[in-house]
Amino acid sequence: MIQIDGSEGEGGGQVLRYSAALSLLTGEPFSITSIRGGRAKPGLMRQHVTALEAACVIGGAECTGLTIGSGELTFRPGSVTPGEYHFAVGTAGSTGLVLQTMLVPLMLADRPSRLVIEGGTHAVAAPPFEFLHRTLLPVLERMGPKLAISLERHGFFPRGGGRIVVNIDPAPLRPIECIERGAFRAGKVEALVAGLPFDIADRELKAARKVLSHWPDHAFAPVQLPAEAGPGNALLLEAEFDHVTEVMSGFGKLGVPAERLATTAAKRMAGYLASQAFAGPYLQDQLLLPFAVAGRGAFTTVKLSQHTLTAADLIERFTGRKMRSSEAAGGTHLVEIG
Ligand code: ATP
Repeated sequence: MIQIDGSEGEGGGQVLRYSAALSLLTGEPFSITSIRGGRAKPGLMRQHVTALEAACVIGGAECTGLTIGSGELTFRPGSVTPGEYHFAVGTAGSTGLVLQTMLVPLMLADRPSRLVIEGGTHAVAAPPFEFLHRTLLPVLERMGPKLAISLERHGFFPRGGGRIVVNIDPAPLRPIECIERGAFRAGKVEALVAGLPFDIADRELKAARKVLSHWPDHAFAPVQLPAEAGPGNALLLEAEFDHVTEVMSGFGKLGVPAERLATTAAKRMAGYLASQAFAGPYLQDQLLLPFAVAGRGAFTTVKLSQHTLTAADLIERFTGRKMRSSEAAGGTHLVEIG
């Protein structure tokens, strides 16, 4: 049984989700202590419990210690059974992060799956729907499986209530290399507002435009969502290249001025545009697992995140496959695995 100290590395929920996915993929049981030990409020939150419950359901796993607030658990995987599943976080906890736990195991199953996941779709510190749809899944599809995702309802913090549907048609994963992102095709910025004053969208777009001043006026669009989807606000910035589309995001929060969140998100996008990298700061850690499972793979990216280093460490412990990284021109990093 692999022993994990949940406070090491990034020290958050990712350690747990990655361990559960790796356990389903390798058949290795694990136990983890100090769950989310690196966070101000450690222990399992609703979102992490749902992610692990989902891993148990699809993976025939047995898990002890799976309750909100728990700091330790043991996970013994069974065999992955594809099918139709419905999971509800019950809060604005991220649907994308619940998916993160199940996606790769189900991409390798022997039949298709359809997942309905309810919870948050646009919340801080998690992949928003557009990132999954436009950034992550298209790269994974190049490895073989067919993946489709749709957004049926938006879910913002704190209300949640969002709903995504994911169809996974599995295939063996073939190794790919994502080195060049190709030529820039188009940029787009959308400010979503639901049940809040609509001028928030204008203020965010104005601030984003100051940073991305070379993008044309028509690239900036306010989007009014039905009030009942809210209250909520998200800024989504998309840069489409020949071989990848990067989505950066910012999420409205009480007390954070719209201009500030927009400037931060736009600067993150500007940093990515100024590099030559294929993967932005969040795609990195999410590519490592499927690339490792494929046996090998490589991608270029911006500065390595703590999430990526932690993911690499966990992958090595479960599979023996190592990540190597080297710095290339213009602050771009080459990551190789396998
Ligand atoms: P905790 O509450 O313990 O911080 P968590 O489970 O909410 O944990 P993390 O452990 O921080 O979250 O993991 C967050 C995951 O979400 C990482 O895989 C990261 O790449 C991804 N992520 C965070 N923000 C974004 C974003 N804006 N776009 C895409 N992916 C994101």
